Amino acid sequence: MYADVILPLPLSDRFTYAIPAEMVNKIGEGFRVVVPFGSRKYYTGIITRIHREAPGITGIREIHSLIDSHPVVNEQQLTLWEWISFYYLAPLGDVYKAALPSSMKPEDLLRKFTPHTEIFLQINPSLDQQTMIRMAGRAKKQQALADEIGSYLTANHTGSVSKKVVSGFSSYSASVLNGLLQKEILTAFPVETSRLETIITPTHEPFPLNDHQHQALTGIRESFDNKETVLLHGVTSSGKTEIYIHLIQQYLAEGKQTLYLLPEIALTTQHTERLKAVFGNRLGIYHSRINDNERAEIWQKMLSDQPYEIIMGVRSSLFLPYQHLGLVIVDEEHEASYKQQDPAPRYHARDTAIMLARFFGAKTLLGSATPSVETYYNAQTGKYGLVTLTARYNGLKMPVIRLENSRELRRKKKMKTLLAPALIEQIGAALENGEQAILFRNRRGFAPLIECKQCGWVPKCRRCDVSLTYHKKSSKLVCHYCNSSYRLPAECPSCHEKSLVPLGLGTEQLEEEVSHLFPGSVVARMDMDSTRSKDAYEQIITGFQEKRIQILVGTQMLSKGLDFDNVRVVGIISADSLLNYPDFRSHERGFQLMTQAAGRAGRKNRQGTVIIQCTDPGQPVFAYVRNNDYEAFFRAQLSERKLFHYPPFYRLIRIVLKHKQEQKAEAAAASLAGMLRESLYERTLGPNKPIVSRIQLYHIREILLKLENGLSPQRVRDILKKTEVRLRSFPEWKYVTLYYDVDPL
Ligand SMILES: [Zn+2]
Ligand SMILES: [Zn+2]
Repeated sequence: MYADVILPLPLSDRFTYAIPAEMVNKIGEGFRVVVPFGSRKYYTGIITRIHREAPGITGIREIHSLIDSHPVVNEQQLTLWEWISFYYLAPLGDVYKAALPSSMKPEDLLRKFTPHTEIFLQINPSLDQQTMIRMAGRAKKQQALADEIGSYLTANHTGSVSKKVVSGFSSYSASVLNGLLQKEILTAFPVETSRLETIITPTHEPFPLNDHQHQALTGIRESFDNKETVLLHGVTSSGKTEIYIHLIQQYLAEGKQTLYLLPEIALTTQHTERLKAVFGNRLGIYHSRINDNERAEIWQKMLSDQPYEIIMGVRSSLFLPYQHLGLVIVDEEHEASYKQQDPAPRYHARDTAIMLARFFGAKTLLGSATPSVETYYNAQTGKYGLVTLTARYNGLKMPVIRLENSRELRRKKKMKTLLAPALIEQIGAALENGEQAILFRNRRGFAPLIECKQCGWVPKCRRCDVSLTYHKKSSKLVCHYCNSSYRLPAECPSCHEKSLVPLGLGTEQLEEEVSHLFPGSVVARMDMDSTRSKDAYEQIITGFQEKRIQILVGTQMLSKGLDFDNVRVVGIISADSLLNYPDFRSHERGFQLMTQAAGRAGRKNRQGTVIIQCTDPGQPVFAYVRNNDYEAFFRAQLSERKLFHYPPFYRLIRIVLKHKQEQKAEAAAASLAGMLRESLYERTLGPNKPIVSRIQLYHIREILLKLENGLSPQRVRDILKKTEVRLRSFPEWKYVTLYYDVDPL
């Protein structure tokens, strides 16, 4: 008997191993096994198939050992892995690697999943109370602690207590406890505990829906009668989460599981609290900030006969072993962070979620105030159902949106700071009223650029082809591509003048300026730099919610579906920079970001104000944002996309080639493009040198394929694989890195 095994290596193939006789009856698909690979390595692999077809090669090796007594990966998961590998042109081994928590697939077999243990204490059972007191003798402190432990055990009708609990006792100190352990009055022993055991009792039923929400919910249910996927297009603050909660409840009642996807961990805090209050322990949370052992425990629980009924998480939660999935919710479906960028598999979690639902016969609900052009097109053409929600929740009014031309204001000398006078005035009025303000700028650091005023010298990263961002607080120059940091030179290394000046504006500078402008107020900053530590993000959000922070400055991190109820004014600084990327999606992104940011403004029964500072207010996208006119924005985008052969009319595949020698990257890319043109003709564009053409010492070249929708993915895949093999057959291109990015964002 033989088994096909997937290994956690960037190899597409499965590998066939012989099953030792004693293992035959204990093994099955989805089991983990340890197998030898290469001359001396062992890997944890997953069995995908058991068969009797002897491979046509000699030297078939045997499975070394079996890890599981039951499958840890089910049929739907294997189907999903295959689909991701096929559609996103990613090695199956990479999909497996991304799917399983790393402690479940140890590479060296010592690093296994370690169960969580806690130390428990009990009073030596052979001692009676009197002996105990005598033994503690004159050690008053020891006696006090022994007494306190004794009364705790009596009060809780238990024989032992965890050391963690005891450490909270008033008479506790480490040395006193050690004394009791030495005298053997107490004994200590480890207990294996689950990290997931804390019991959360639901505190309330779902809130009743208002008429608009109720109508939307009915619309979604009706749409699900004949559509697999439905888009809920609801304006910001329209109460989409509450609709999700009611829908989840319905699926729970039918005994079905729900997967609730959010684009980023940043968003989960606010949402988990709301769902926990309704669903308690039936809800599991799965994201990158929980540690790997905890992920493994969640995985095992999902396999048990009492799995979580609802999983809320980021894109990796697609890979959990669901048993009876009925509903998938993809909230903020337009968010780019649903797309995995690096490493492979470069999958889009929204589109993969739709496939996952299909494999289970489940339904998918996509939610957004600013749907992606692709999704809205699918809803318009009837592929998806469409439900719209135009009223904001709780009588909240849509904000007034104003444009301020900063170039004009500066020319007339009316703008002396980073903020337009109208914005300063609005913030001042908000502060006076005990209200809050949010300011957006999509660049972190103090200044995106440093330049020598004398000779024009600009510091660049030694590993990447980018200029360095100045971070004032740490007094460093940082590369935002590879994270290398450099000291800020005291003088220009080129002309030796002390003439280095920061250029441009980042969040750090904005924070500093705002603190000067409003000295009495508390200003906080939210970006990747300020939220690196584990709880920093939550602290900032809570501080703002509890009104300890009056002004919040941040990057797009702030625009993602957060609900605040006291924000009078939102300012978007240098809004033009959102639109100036040389990418066909830049206006879509700009529209989404501005609309989402604007959506943070507003108080109950009071209209909020949004001020967009820009230098070119004539750009049509500003008008769409100001009029909250998604439809017009969508129509304009669609006709451009059609004209220039972009999605949803064409499918894009980006082919990336990398090498440490620029000439090799260049020549390999030219050679590959030439070969592709032989079968794909004018669908092959490039090779191009991307704007950032060197990252981490690797020179990059790109080829773009524009493929009409009718062209089958299978055929394209075959052509690409064949061409890649042909390229690799030339020894000089053997070590060029090559990967595919399907539906790139
Ligand atoms: Zn200089
Ligand atoms: Zn760098």
